[in-house]
Amino acid sequence: AKADGGGRVRLFEDTMLEQIRARQSMRRDLGVALERRELHLVYQPLVDLRSGRTGCVEALLRWAHPERGSVSPAEFIPLAEETGLIDPIGDWVLETACRQAVEWPDHVSVAVNVSAVQFRRDSLPLRVAAALARSGLDPARLELEITESVLLHDNEHNMRVLHALKRLGVRIALDDFGTGYSSLSYLRLFPFDKLKLDRSFVNDIGHSAQSEAIIRAAGEMGTALSMVTTAEGVETAEQLAWLRTHGWSQAQGYFVGRPSHSPFNLASAFGTKVG
Ligand code: C2E
Ligand code: CA
Ligand code: CA
Ligand code: CA
Repeated sequence: AKADGGGRVRLFEDTMLEQIRARQSMRRDLGVALERRELHLVYQPLVDLRSGRTGCVEALLRWAHPERGSVSPAEFIPLAEETGLIDPIGDWVLETACRQAVEWPDHVSVAVNVSAVQFRRDSLPLRVAAALARSGLDPARLELEITESVLLHDNEHNMRVLHALKRLGVRIALDDFGTGYSSLSYLRLFPFDKLKLDRSFVNDIGHSAQSEAIIRAAGEMGTALSMVTTAEGVETAEQLAWLRTHGWSQAQGYFVGRPSHSPFNLASAFGTKVG
């Protein structure tokens, strides 16, 4: 039994070592991913529930790794944050998304995710301004998505950066609303332009009266605070109908449209109108 246990420990150590090596090699690979053009963006529509039109499109980062295939941003964004690669990658995302949006109809804005580490930089407003200038995109058509976790520390810095971004004329969305610990206090601190309800709530529509009550209340609060209210992760016709009935402004999710390279060429189940 003793030898057996030792074997298990060795096996465990081997697995750990393997994981560490895998992370190290991913780290190295990510360092050259940009110049090798392995990163690209896909775009997912946010559809206006009253008009049925696409009012906004979210840019989502993808990494086509030569051996591993498609690596999820949930995996490599944390790596990029640890290594500082998030700065060049974040700049590339901003500029690429803005350049793409210039090609879209004027009423369509583009939403870009900003990570905690990007937000911690004093230089973020400058970086955003540079992407706008280089692409020629109207600032009013750029939306930055931040999560509550971004705002957890140093309120003074956060408020300075948020207001500097607002002065540029871009809009700010509060992403993954409802998943953090103090969602409501942020709404008191800053006038967000959009509230994006996390998809875990939407998932409960039709199954949980509690969740439905929360969604109703969140929607009313968002509207009362003059925010656009967007529900994430809409996967069924039933969820879409419920959200529309309860006054939500926008829906995003697989039922409305999957992330794709050309969000305006694919007709979705919802019948997203172009233009
Ligand atoms: P997020 O900002 O909450 O983005 C929404 C995620 O939900 C995306 O995953 C999207 O593909 C997925 N999704 C959309 N509709 C549905 C649906 O109906 N059902 C389900 N189950 N999922 C849906 P993705 O693309 O894997 O991105 C994961 C996260 O990675 C994002 O979450 C965002 O936090 C981060 N991310 C993505 N792109 C970037 C980027 O360019 N920069 C930074 N800093 N973070 C990014
Ligand atoms: Ca987002
Ligand atoms: Ca989200
Ligand atoms: Ca998320």
